[in-house]
Amino acid sequence: MDYFPLFHRFADQQIVVVGGGTIALRKITLLEKSGARIRVIAPDILAALKNRASCECIEREFIDRDIQDCSLVVVATNNGVLNSHISVLARAQGLLVNVVDSPSLCNVIFPSIVDRNPLVIAITSSGQAPVLARSVRAKLESTIPASYGQLAALAARFRAEVKATFSRSADRLSFWEKILNGVTAEHVYAGRMAQAEQSLVATLHNPELRKRGEVYLVGAGPGDPDLLTFKALRLMQQADVVVYDALVSDAVMELVRRDAERIYVGKRRAQHTLAQGDINQLLVDQALLGNRVLRLKGGDPFIFGRGGEEIDLLAEQGIAFQVVPGITAASGCAAYAGIPLTHRDFAQSVRFVTGHLKDGSANLPWAELVSTSQTLVFYMGLSGIGTICQKLIEHGRDPHTPIALIQKGTTPEQRVFIGTLATMPGIVEREKPRAPTLTIVGEVVSLHDKLSWFGPSTSNDAHGQSAGQGPGD
Ligand code: SAH
Repeated sequence: MDYFPLFHRFADQQIVVVGGGTIALRKITLLEKSGARIRVIAPDILAALKNRASCECIEREFIDRDIQDCSLVVVATNNGVLNSHISVLARAQGLLVNVVDSPSLCNVIFPSIVDRNPLVIAITSSGQAPVLARSVRAKLESTIPASYGQLAALAARFRAEVKATFSRSADRLSFWEKILNGVTAEHVYAGRMAQAEQSLVATLHNPELRKRGEVYLVGAGPGDPDLLTFKALRLMQQADVVVYDALVSDAVMELVRRDAERIYVGKRRAQHTLAQGDINQLLVDQALLGNRVLRLKGGDPFIFGRGGEEIDLLAEQGIAFQVVPGITAASGCAAYAGIPLTHRDFAQSVRFVTGHLKDGSANLPWAELVSTSQTLVFYMGLSGIGTICQKLIEHGRDPHTPIALIQKGTTPEQRVFIGTLATMPGIVEREKPRAPTLTIVGEVVSLHDKLSWFGPSTSNDAHGQSAGQGPGD
């Protein structure tokens, strides 16, 4: 490392800034946060600096004696000769010196800073690519919750008490991991500081609570990993055990913490790997072992996801859990196929329907599904597509109503098949789409031609979107 990061305590130390223009002002605005005493020396000093309580301004030329007894010298003049002179002088006295925009004259440089005091992150490109350092900073700014500082402050307040409670450092470590990654931290992020403190204190004094894990019921979205929420990603990266099924895409699984244990409980049609009751129990058992258990489900856990059943047992057993919504297949597929689910001209409501027809029977409220101003979205409807189209026509929906079938929406294998209630069963028979597929019925489907934007548009690409299968195709 050309520059080794150390964090300086400058409170009540003397810092000298040579130069009184806008660059000096920028540096001083940062340096002020350190609590240092700042002396500014320049023949001409900006009024904005002269009015600052933290600054002592001396309006004259620099003289060598000015840097005696200071901890840091910052040079921000446009006089190259003076800049080098001060740099040499300061280094000869063993001082820290920064000459703005002249790395070769510096022995310390300013990093890009993410300030979540007392948590502070400093980033540098060692003067090689400042724009890169700034973009890393922007990324961190957007992913680290603003309340991290409050979390750190909470931890600081209890540090001594925790140390007194646990004599072994391993016990302290596991306590802090639990607090900073668990329910307590979530309270802080949500702005519930009083509950956060209560939860910390309870965990500190109750060994039972410390032993107990928790469960995160998380929606993984329809496939594209970029559609995960920040919260989903955060919990995915801290889980000890991941319980997932077939709908969770490989690209999403890639983002799960590397050393987490992975338990597959997927169900493929007619071939159950684990009964629902066993999955519910598995979550309880894993949490009781002290694990942070991630129950990762395709789409949204509360839409045809049986998420409610899974947390029912957790609630009964007093195990802490959180639910994180995901983008449901209807939203994901509709967006990526360019089919708005509602539209002022075509559909005033949208209805999510299960197309999983028990024993092939057709016990859906068909009469309610034939309104022309309503978009229908069928989940799990591939094998029943013939019945669905036939029943809708029988109950009065126009056979020319457009219908889209979207295979593996939002993934590189997305394909969109467009037809009508009359033609779709034939298209499915011929094209043999692969599950999962989602079916959208209604006039809004006609917008696909114009609004489609995702994926290759040529119809001769096997993985592309099959364009041009209009009515009667
Ligand atoms: N909880 C999930 C739905 C689970 S039911 C959600 O909110 O999306 C499973 C059905 O979801 C599948 O049969 C299929 O109809 C639909 N589905 C899920 N992901 C899909 C995808 N990427 N493309 C098309 N359909 C999908």
